[in-house]
Amino acid sequence: MTRTVPLFTLDGVPDARTSTHPFSTQDGLGLSLLRFLREPAGDVVLVVHGLTTSSDMFIMPEHVNLVRYLLDNGYTDVWTLDYRMSNRHPYNRSMHRHTMDDIALYDYPAALRALRAEVGDRRVHVIAHCLGSVSFLMSLFGGAVDGVTSVIANSAGLTPRVPAWSRLKLTVAPAFMEYVLGFPYLDPRWSEEPPFTRGRLFSRVVDAFHPECDQPACHMLSLMWGTGWPALYGHDKLHAVTHARSGDLYGATGFHYYRHVLKMVRAGRAVKYDPGDARLRALPDDYLAGAAAITTPVLLTTGDRNHVFADSNIVCHDRLNAIAPGRHELVVYPGYGHQDVFMGRNCHQDVFPSMIDFLKRQGA
Ligand SMILES: [Zn+2]
Repeated sequence: MTRTVPLFTLDGVPDARTSTHPFSTQDGLGLSLLRFLREPAGDVVLVVHGLTTSSDMFIMPEHVNLVRYLLDNGYTDVWTLDYRMSNRHPYNRSMHRHTMDDIALYDYPAALRALRAEVGDRRVHVIAHCLGSVSFLMSLFGGAVDGVTSVIANSAGLTPRVPAWSRLKLTVAPAFMEYVLGFPYLDPRWSEEPPFTRGRLFSRVVDAFHPECDQPACHMLSLMWGTGWPALYGHDKLHAVTHARSGDLYGATGFHYYRHVLKMVRAGRAVKYDPGDARLRALPDDYLAGAAAITTPVLLTTGDRNHVFADSNIVCHDRLNAIAPGRHELVVYPGYGHQDVFMGRNCHQDVFPSMIDFLKRQGA
């Protein structure tokens, strides 16, 4: 196939100096940051993707993207992180046993050290999405990172909640996929594999349940991430090019992160996957337990049609507001869902202005 948008292109951010900053985690993974620089001054913004997207979801050339919008609106030094959930790295394409605790303890502290080595003590804001948002708030509220001026956390935070069908999938799918079907991961691009391969056949079966469009990757994403037709976004919110390259923008993922999400859904809050794991004893078992002491303001955001994490962030705001009244904020975007809050074609009109407004108030 010939792609209209090349994989991992940086063309969506013209007029910036781009550089890659590799770093390693204490548990031995190689990760990376991308820097989009116009001027090394003022507040720094670090942008964090979800599972299993990458920096690419914030630099899409088919429409005005978040990084470009930030650069054009006074934030002249923007960074995107590719941590172990990124499809720019190979770590999701295996039957791994990583959890969001590993990410909270190992990925963000190492990323912020690498960033601070370049930007010094300038103010740093974080914008995070999906399980990037959940795991970054775990890192912050669990005391693994500090010195962050503000956080924008989209779709889910410290109280992940999912629709009933998603909960059933979370309960059954990991063991069924790993031990019965023997798949190490799910890949939205399976439809592009050769005829009669197992992945392609699996993708054809999923197609049968998704008449809403003719894009097999879109159907796989609905199976992988939520409850809806489609689940991740409104078709009306996406540029046609974005929809057509869904399989490129989201990668494959193993199943173990789902187990951690299920544990949190059952607990009603972000909790450690294995409280007995000695490697992780620096982290709390309950990430909300120390919330009163965390003074970093968090803007929780979500669409009102979120078919992945439902009303998680509305509930999270209620919980945090009860603990620290007025410290944290909530914005709900009408007509938007989970992923289109960042990847929609009109986000620069409907979403990004409220995020900039929050950042400007925190940086004042
Ligand atoms: Zn679709």
